[in-house]
Amino acid sequence: MASPLPVPSPKDAEVKLHTGGCHCKRVRYEFEHPDIYAMAVVSCNCSFCEDRGSLNVYTLEDKFRFTKGSADDLTTYSFGEGRIMHRFCPTCGTTFGAAVPRGGIVVINTRTIDGIDLQRLQLYKADGRSKM
Ligand SMILES: [Zn+2]
Repeated sequence: MASPLPVPSPKDAEVKLHTGGCHCKRVRYEFEHPDIYAMAVVSCNCSFCEDRGSLNVYTLEDKFRFTKGSADDLTTYSFGEGRIMHRFCPTCGTTFGAAVPRGGIVVINTRTIDGIDLQRLQLYKADGRSKM
């Protein structure tokens, strides 16, 4: 079966619990996911990703939960066909990533993960621009 996620997880990567949240700590989350440094992190060149500079990993809704606050505490933004609900903290402006309700996918901006070392990420350059 094909993976429902844009970037399939490496089969033998160790699954860890990652935690993160926004700058003002209004909203916190955790999710189970393979080692972030062992997989491709998506750097997309679409008009929106270019503006906000998020570096994304993808997980399924059932692997992700809010540990402080909830989706209702976040502002959302959508454009184009409106399939993707981009999420922001309305207080500090942190870009969390997004929810893709049809498909049950949660997009996580790796910049919001606790203790992330951006220099160690393996960036995969996605050409979102030509798909819009
Ligand atoms: Zn915040």
